[in-house]
Amino acid sequence: MIIKNNLKKSRLTLALLAGITLLAACGEQPTPAVKIAKMNSIQVVKDITYLASDNLKGRASFSPEIDQAADYINQRFTEIGLIPLDTNKDFKQTFKVTSIMPSSLTVTLNGNAIEVAQLGMASTIATLAWNSAEDVNTHIIGETDNMRAALGKMNNEGGEHFVIIHSAHAKTFAGYQGYFKRGLTKLSLKHQGAIVMVLADDSEITSLVVNAATSITEKTLTNIVAILPGKDKNLDKAKEVVLYSSHYDHLGLSADGKEVFNGADDDASGTSAVINLAQHYASQGTNKRTLMFSAFTAEEIGGFGSKYFSQQLNPDDVVAMINIEMIGKPSKFGAGTMWMTGMERSNLGELLNASLQEKNTEVYKDPYPEQGLFYRSDNATLARLGVPAHSFSSTQLDKDQHYHQSSDDINSLDLDSMYEVIESLSVATQGLVDGSITPTRIDVSTVRASGKIY
Ligand SMILES: [Zn+2]
Repeated sequence: MIIKNNLKKSRLTLALLAGITLLAACGEQPTPAVKIAKMNSIQVVKDITYLASDNLKGRASFSPEIDQAADYINQRFTEIGLIPLDTNKDFKQTFKVTSIMPSSLTVTLNGNAIEVAQLGMASTIATLAWNSAEDVNTHIIGETDNMRAALGKMNNEGGEHFVIIHSAHAKTFAGYQGYFKRGLTKLSLKHQGAIVMVLADDSEITSLVVNAATSITEKTLTNIVAILPGKDKNLDKAKEVVLYSSHYDHLGLSADGKEVFNGADDDASGTSAVINLAQHYASQGTNKRTLMFSAFTAEEIGGFGSKYFSQQLNPDDVVAMINIEMIGKPSKFGAGTMWMTGMERSNLGELLNASLQEKNTEVYKDPYPEQGLFYRSDNATLARLGVPAHSFSSTQLDKDQHYHQSSDDINSLDLDSMYEVIESLSVATQGLVDGSITPTRIDVSTVRASGKIY
C-alpha cells in the first residue's frame, strides 16, 4: 500500500515538475499567438448557452453528445492558450471504467415470488445464487428505522446483503430502485458486493431464494484538464496547484427520450465559470502558482471523473480545490452571492472572505447542512486526500423546483447573478493564485469514506 502510494507520488510530482521546468527552461512562459480577451459576460453566456443547449441532449455520461461538450471545452482551453497535463496532445484525460447493469433478478421470500416493482438491486457481482438466508447478510428495516443510514452502512461494509424494507419507506425505496436500475460504474472491481432489497412488511425470513445476474462491460470516460503554469521564478510556488473544477456531465434524456435534462445550472453554470476563470487568469498572466482547470465527467453517476483525476496527481501539491456547482441563480443571500460547503473544515472560506472585503461581499456558509452537500460533489474525493476542497454554489436547494428536472434550462437562470458570482470568485481566489494565501488542510479522519457497492 505505502510503496504504491510513494511511487505514485514521485511519478506524478515529477511529471508536474517536468512540465513546469520545461516551460521555465524555454525562458518566459509561452505567449499565445493571439492576445487573450479579458473575461467578459458575453463569452460566459455563449459558453453556457452551448453547453445547456438541447443539441447536447443533457450531456449524459457515455453518450455521443457528452463528447461534443468535451470537444467544445477542449477548444476553449486551446483558444485560451492553456497547456495539457503531461505529454498529451490535447486536454482530454480519457480512462476506462467498468459498467455493471442489472440484467435479471428473481426473489422468492417466505414462499412468495416478489413482484419486480417491489425489488431493487445494486450489484457489482456477475451472478448471485442465494438459496437460504445463511448464504447472505440479512437485514430487516422496520417502519421506524432509518433506511438511508442502514443502506449506507451496508454500502460502506461491502459484501453481500439481502434487505427487507418496510412499505412505510416506499418513496425512498423507489428513489434507490431508480438509481440502481441505471446500473453502477466502477473504476475498479476491487470491492465486489451486492445489495438486494425487497419492499415488504415481513418481519422474519423463513426461506429465501435469490437469483440475479449483471452484465459487465468496459466503457470510456473523459475529463478535460488544462494547466496554466505558475510563473514564480524559483519554482516553489509554481510547484503548487490551485484547482478550479466543475462537472460537465448531466442526466441526459428522460426515459421516454422526449425531455432533455439540460443541466443548465447543474453544472453548465460551473463549467462556464471554470472556462472563463481560466480565460481571466490567462489574460492576466501573473499567476505564481500553477492553475489547473478541470471539467469532470460522470459526477452524476458517482463522481468517477474526479476519482480518476485524483489518482493522476499528488494531492499534496494541490493547495486548494475550488469546485463550482450550480451558480446560475441567486442564493438566499441575494443576487450575485454564493455559499460554500464544508466551510468549517478548513480556513479557506475565512481567507477568501478577507479578499472579498473590498468587493463588499462574502462567501456564506452552506445554509443547507442537513443535505450533506459536502459529500454530494467532486470536492469530496479530493477532501478525502486532505485537499482543502470545497464546492461553491448559489442554489436555493430547499425550494428550487428545477434541480434534476428537465426545467433546469437556461431560461430558469439569472445570468447577471451568475456572472457576478464568477467575478467574485476571481477576486476571492486571487490570493491563492498569487501565492499569498495558503489554506489549512482538511483533516481526512473527519471525512466519511465513499461506499464500496454503489
Ligand atoms: Zn452537479
